[in-house]
Amino acid sequence: MKDRLKNVMDRIKKSAIKCRRDPETIRLVAVSKTVPAQRVKEAIDAGVTILGENYVQETRDKFNALSSCRVSWHFIGHLQSNKAKYAVRLFDLIHSVDSVKLAREIDKQSKKVDKIQNILIQVNVADESTKSGASIQNTLNLIKEISNFKNLAVKGLMTMPPFFNAPEKVRPFFKDLRKLRDQFRKEAVQNVVMDELSMGMTGDFEVAIEEGATLVRIGTALFGERN
Ligand SMILES: *Cc1c(COP(=O)(O)O)cnc(C)c1O
Repeated sequence: MKDRLKNVMDRIKKSAIKCRRDPETIRLVAVSKTVPAQRVKEAIDAGVTILGENYVQETRDKFNALSSCRVSWHFIGHLQSNKAKYAVRLFDLIHSVDSVKLAREIDKQSKKVDKIQNILIQVNVADESTKSGASIQNTLNLIKEISNFKNLAVKGLMTMPPFFNAPEKVRPFFKDLRKLRDQFRKEAVQNVVMDELSMGMTGDFEVAIEEGATLVRIGTALFGERN
């Protein structure tokens, strides 16, 4: 685990330096879905500080098993509104908000526990019918509506582009997300900051960093193939 983590961190640093970015501005989200608590603990002991999870129930179990660990939990999967109640208790950042309905429910549940929930807006940059995420055209309106919810804080954008296993083919989608982020920054919607770009996975995170990623979500390169 130590070696794998060191390898990934070295690759992150190398990509950052290549494009003259400060490596400290890129944070690793270790994607631990389907990975048992014991192995997740090894990753934390090796230096992982953020975990990315896709399923609420799975996280609840691991969260309890790892309650003594100092680690931040991020939700990166598709969130159903009826799970928002649990999500606000578990996660420091929810990467995958893509509708007003979901935002409203997270806001309501956050209010109950007196929390300001940090969120990212998930964008379906390639407009794939099979994927979650707001369309590029709808994203600005969505952000404006969400900015009215008092217990939500929008921190940036997230995307899951088509998987070509060929990073150069994914690059244009990363570029699109960054352009969108820059455009929204100019709009300066009240209560919204556009600092984070959550993009890049095991197969393409180096290209994502070159295009401006601040959060890279990496599972396989750290924990091995999932079954
Ligand atoms: C599983 C998953 C990842 C990690 O993918 P790897 O290819 O294993 O690095 C990243 N982001 C999301 C949203 C995922 O579901």
